[in-house]
Amino acid sequence: MKKRLIAINAVIVIIGFMVSFAIAGVRIQEQYRVEFNNRLDTALAILQTRERTILQDPKAVAESVGQTLSQSGQQIRISIINPDGKVVGDSEKDEINQNHLDRPEIQQALRSGRGYDTRMSASVQQRYYYEAVYVQGDFYLRAALPTVELDASLKNLWMTAFFSMLIGIAVVCVLTGYLVCRVTQPLQKLSAAAKQISGGDYSCRVNGNFRDEVGELALSFNHMAENTENAVVQLTRQQKQLEGVLQGMNDGVLAASDDGTILFMNQSAGRLLGSRSLTAGKKLEGSLLINRIAERMKGALNGDSVEKQNLEAEDGKQYSLYTAAIPGQKDAAALAVITDETRIRKLERLRSEFVANVTHELKTPLTSIRGSIELLKSTDRDEKTRRYFYDVLDIEAERLQHLIDDMLVLSQIENAKEDLSARPCKVVRAVENCVSRLQSVAEKAGITVRVQVDPTMVVSCSPTRLEQLLGNLIENAIKYNHADGCVDIIGVRQRKTAVVRVRDNGIGIAPEHFSRLFERFYRVDTSRSREIGGTGLGLSIVKHLAVLYGGEVGVESQVGKGSTFTVHLPLAPDVPDKNKKSTL
Ligand code: ADP
Repeated sequence: MKKRLIAINAVIVIIGFMVSFAIAGVRIQEQYRVEFNNRLDTALAILQTRERTILQDPKAVAESVGQTLSQSGQQIRISIINPDGKVVGDSEKDEINQNHLDRPEIQQALRSGRGYDTRMSASVQQRYYYEAVYVQGDFYLRAALPTVELDASLKNLWMTAFFSMLIGIAVVCVLTGYLVCRVTQPLQKLSAAAKQISGGDYSCRVNGNFRDEVGELALSFNHMAENTENAVVQLTRQQKQLEGVLQGMNDGVLAASDDGTILFMNQSAGRLLGSRSLTAGKKLEGSLLINRIAERMKGALNGDSVEKQNLEAEDGKQYSLYTAAIPGQKDAAALAVITDETRIRKLERLRSEFVANVTHELKTPLTSIRGSIELLKSTDRDEKTRRYFYDVLDIEAERLQHLIDDMLVLSQIENAKEDLSARPCKVVRAVENCVSRLQSVAEKAGITVRVQVDPTMVVSCSPTRLEQLLGNLIENAIKYNHADGCVDIIGVRQRKTAVVRVRDNGIGIAPEHFSRLFERFYRVDTSRSREIGGTGLGLSIVKHLAVLYGGEVGVESQVGKGSTFTVHLPLAPDVPDKNKKSTL
């Protein structure tokens, strides 16, 4: 724009200069002619004052007037021509034979009394500007100025005009350039700033002390840039906050365009979908689960109703999926929120199972109790029968007591994050206490119990809980055994862990039960368990206690050959880690 302004201005100035110089030149040239005419008029007027002398000796008059004019610095040629066209006197040449009647200035003088012409003189071989007057009937008087002087003056004039014009144009161009630069500089700054802003640099401002309209424009521009910058900063902050919230969510959040390109996905989405290669910008495709989610998102874009759906992945995990079209966007996009509900659904299942189990467990002894009471109410029962029903009542009440006790223990353990009453306990003592408590039961069933536990093993537990854990395992080993069977309790150190194995050669457990064996109320043989007073909570208590004290429990078994339950518990830290000889 700057160059165009300078060029347009220069062209206008050049045209202006040329026109004004042409007019001035023509006027000056005219002025020169007028001056020439005046000079010739003067010379002719002088000649006319000598009219009488001219008639007597025209040659002498021509010479003397020419000389007089020459002395006064005027190179004017004087000619006197008679009416026939013969030159009778000339200040430049003694004799001129050519007839001058046909000369244009003579012809014009003849017609109108005065004539002019400019041409090369045939007699003196010089260009002259002629003026002739006709003195009625007597002669023609002619004065001529050599055009050399006029030509030189005019040439000089035009040269001066030309150079003046060049200097003028140069000065005007420089000044115009300077002024255009000054005027366009703020505009250039504005343009540069606008370019920077459009390139994303919103901190850019136009600096300068502009007081005119451009200054106002710059102020408005700066104001606009500031507003834009603030808006962008606020938007970026909000976007980051939103992104932070979305990234921090436990649910997977996923947005994709209508062609299936991922626009956004948080870390949880990547984790839940189990694909590290999925990132923003890539296509939403992969496993069966991902393809189903992509399909649902497409459906949402096509206007399918927005509702929560349940999905199950190939690995059995349960998800809930919410899909919706993102409103207000130019390009269509869909949103998916994926929630892992595997745990919650498992808990729901366990809770309903638990309620069903508890109800069932309570119902059996209660039915038995109510039946016995009904029968006892009738008066015609003999003493023996009454005693029998009292025994039944006693057994069922005890069963209920056990059940409630076990449930309370389980609930306490489940709710406890750590046992505050834990203290160093010798494993061997807990085992011995259990064995002595169960000795009579074992003897009654004809079971031999053998103990082989490292007496140095000390674990950090509540002594009652430790006995509960080991007691449940030993009791089961006795309960689910054959007559003449045996139970071995072996306790050894393994690095920083106390390992206690309760081994029996009883009925054993089929492997398909292993995974559910430690669940509440799970029984392998329900009728046998009930018959021998089992609540179905023993192993569940064992597992929860082992976990509470930082350990674990496992089982190995073969149907008909026996089972081995192994408990790992961390040794108390202050106990020296030395292998001492174990005692029975
Ligand atoms: P219960 O009170 O019925 O014994 P548990 O939770 O202690 O409940 O045991 C769950 C089930 O595991 C039992 O019903 C029994 O079928 C099986 N079981 C536990 N220990 C043994 C064992 N040593 N040998 C064979 N089966 C066992």
